[in-house]
Amino acid sequence: MARYTDSKCKLCRREGVMLYLKGNRCFTGKCAIKRRETPPGMHSWRRHRRSAYGERLREKQKVKRWYGVMDRQFKRYFEIAERQKGNTGQNLLTTLERRLDSVLYWMGYSLSRAHARQLIRHGHVRVNGKKVNIPSVLVKAGDVMEPADRENSRKLFAEAIELSKSRNIPSWVEVTHDPAKGKVLELPKRDDVQFEVNEQFVVEVQKR
Ligand code: SF4
Repeated sequence: MARYTDSKCKLCRREGVMLYLKGNRCFTGKCAIKRRETPPGMHSWRRHRRSAYGERLREKQKVKRWYGVMDRQFKRYFEIAERQKGNTGQNLLTTLERRLDSVLYWMGYSLSRAHARQLIRHGHVRVNGKKVNIPSVLVKAGDVMEPADRENSRKLFAEAIELSKSRNIPSWVEVTHDPAKGKVLELPKRDDVQFEVNEQFVVEVQKR
């Protein structure tokens, strides 16, 4: 029986979905969720079905873990989504997709969103020519991301590009590898969210 080697993989197992929290490992056969079918824990087979509320809460937890946001931030994104026109659940997902750490990940300049947050906080990323060290910044159409003008930053980007070649780059961004430069062509839409989630459940649990 496969053993868990990392607490991040346990989160995927618990939610029953690949959350891609471990960089390149997620794309290999070492991924814990690919290796074992049952949820973590010795008595996982005894687990009962979740209540209706539990199902909704699970969807919210999935979204928080996928994007790496805590409750307070999540509440703020939800308020932003509510103020926008259209479907609140869809607005919530597309707003979260626009976080700088998420965009950097999709551009292939980081191994995971957590890695992207580290690169940003350590000052390795420039947006429109200026250093930005806040991972939660929401990007706009036309924004350009590139490494800071330092040898080390360029090296870190190049390493991430090399290791994330197998990842699909979404059509709403344009990416060059040498030199590393990524542009947001348009804002992501619901269909661009590559993540199975019932956003209506998230809205219902958040409004309780
Ligand atoms: Fe672990 Fe990544 Fe697989 Fe999740 S998707 S179980 S984080 S290797």
